[in-house]
Amino acid sequence: MDPSRINALRELPVDDGRLLIGGQWLAARNGEQLDVVSPIDGRRLCGIAAAGVTDVDAAVRAARQSFEAGSWSRLPPAERKKVMFRIADRIEAQQAELAVLGVRDNGTEIAMAWKAEPGSAAATFRFYAECIDKRPGEIAPTAENVLGLVHREPIGVVAAIVPWNFPQMIGAWKIAPALAAGNSVVLKPSEDASLALLALAKVCHEAGLPDGVLNVVTGTGSVTGDALARHPDVDVLVFTGSGAVGRQLLKASAESNLKRVYLELGGKSPNIVFADAPDLVQAARVSAQGIFRNSGQVCVAGSRLLVQRDIHEDFVQRLCDAASRLRVGDPLDVQTDVGAVSSRRQLDRNRAALARAVEQGARVRTGGECIEPVPGGCYMRPAVVDQVNPAMELAREEVFGPVLAVLPFDDEADAIRLANDSPYGLAAGVWTASLSRAHRMVRAVRAGVVHVNTYGGPDITVPLGGVRQSGNGHDKSIHALDKYQDLKTAWIQL
Ligand code: NAD
Repeated sequence: MDPSRINALRELPVDDGRLLIGGQWLAARNGEQLDVVSPIDGRRLCGIAAAGVTDVDAAVRAARQSFEAGSWSRLPPAERKKVMFRIADRIEAQQAELAVLGVRDNGTEIAMAWKAEPGSAAATFRFYAECIDKRPGEIAPTAENVLGLVHREPIGVVAAIVPWNFPQMIGAWKIAPALAAGNSVVLKPSEDASLALLALAKVCHEAGLPDGVLNVVTGTGSVTGDALARHPDVDVLVFTGSGAVGRQLLKASAESNLKRVYLELGGKSPNIVFADAPDLVQAARVSAQGIFRNSGQVCVAGSRLLVQRDIHEDFVQRLCDAASRLRVGDPLDVQTDVGAVSSRRQLDRNRAALARAVEQGARVRTGGECIEPVPGGCYMRPAVVDQVNPAMELAREEVFGPVLAVLPFDDEADAIRLANDSPYGLAAGVWTASLSRAHRMVRAVRAGVVHVNTYGGPDITVPLGGVRQSGNGHDKSIHALDKYQDLKTAWIQL
């Protein structure tokens, strides 16, 4: 990452975003646009097309036509693989442009966005390109006079609706396996982070993805997203975002064509520190990063810190020190640890959640102030909040901001009880020097991923998915392909 290159890119004018439908870049039919405002300094960057129902319909038709035509769905896997490798190479070649554009749109610190956004998107395309011809069908072990074959087939038209945090990474987690399996896709980015995904779609197109195989419709959730969720010709809807919207999508599916719906939702993930943790300094430093990077706007963020009572005060102090050492500032400065909150609306939500916690009796140990290291921007200092009890909203509901709730526990059983006392089950952390306890905790804590003596960092080789109200299905790893492939049986009498 070259700071002078990043500086050169930060002021470049940004063209208005258009829709990608059937290989063409189009304005919305009704001409409507949304403003894109950078959280770095509150300035308008450009406009993006606000797709209406007709535009969404055109995008789904284009996807269906390309799927039926077989320009991608029936291309030999080896040819699909070449295109996906080219996409990965081109993402890497444009890493600086993609990273800076994304940061200008959503405010993630560049030190994180560099790897987590284009870096991770390239790795994801490469991973699924490699998977394309490594998942054969099956010959069933049945009677001698029949042949039972199990084919794996693409499903058809996949709609992907994604959030504003890590749009390139999460977008790639949906697009790459869907394409690898031979489907056509309609992607709906968040209205708060569309620019980098439009640029990524351009890369896919230029790398040789046939027209209509990847379509992008930008716009609001209530119009563009809803039209996609209700479209009768979408076969699979994959979503990452909030539980409230996840519920609406299930309803939209039920009220339209019963399309399959996979949801990756939020969490209130417990990060559990036992007194026997191998290195409490390291645990405090990594735990602070595990909640505060990207201003807490990370689905798996360890936002509920459970600390064993014997070390509670000492550990909270170490954590406050680690939190207050994090540099909050201009996300395009490579030295910044915590960038901007993604929008004014989200900053207001964070502030309100903190104020309610204080009203209910919690105590802010450090941080929580809204500051303007760049005038006009949206920034909040990492907040560590203790005297939180398990019934409080701050212990139960996701803030999706840089706010950490701290609760004490007595022993292992108490830690498990508190950890599982949540409507969510996305991620967890356990810090202990005991191998046996680590394994017991991995089994006992209800979550899609349990980190041990670290927090964050699982790569593309392992699945990510929630239990309970954190969702269903998995992104990442070879298992993600299950969402995008159908099994078809051939039963042949010999
Ligand atoms: P959100 O649910 O508000 O929006 C997500 C997407 O849904 C956006 O593209 C939005 O335009 C669209 N949308 C909104 N209303 C819609 C509707 N009625 N019909 C169809 N689409 C609609 O979420 P967000 O604020 O963008 O993202 C933050 C949330 O995402 C947090 O809850 C976070 O935990 C979650 N998240 C989860 C994961 C995961 O892997 N589990 C990863 C990242 C973020």
